[in-house]
Amino acid sequence: MDERLKLLDKIKIRLNGYVYKGDYKKEGWKEPLPFYLFECPVHGLVEGYPKGHSKRLECPICREEEEKIKSKKLAV
Ligand SMILES: [Zn+2]
Repeated sequence: MDERLKLLDKIKIRLNGYVYKGDYKKEGWKEPLPFYLFECPVHGLVEGYPKGHSKRLECPICREEEEKIKSKKLAV
């Protein structure tokens, strides 16, 4: 994250647990998704979008690490 975090955003994260950043569209996506800035207990402030049916915000770094562990387990 290169962008400087505004004080207001920090307060919002403290109060709500997240702050809305805007709708972004990634390559291969049909529609843009809302992105949020939120705090991961492990990685600090991260950006992500709600996933799956539960619309849970997941830390992308945690997810990546989980995937790595999974693929390692499969390889063994
Ligand atoms: Zn994390």
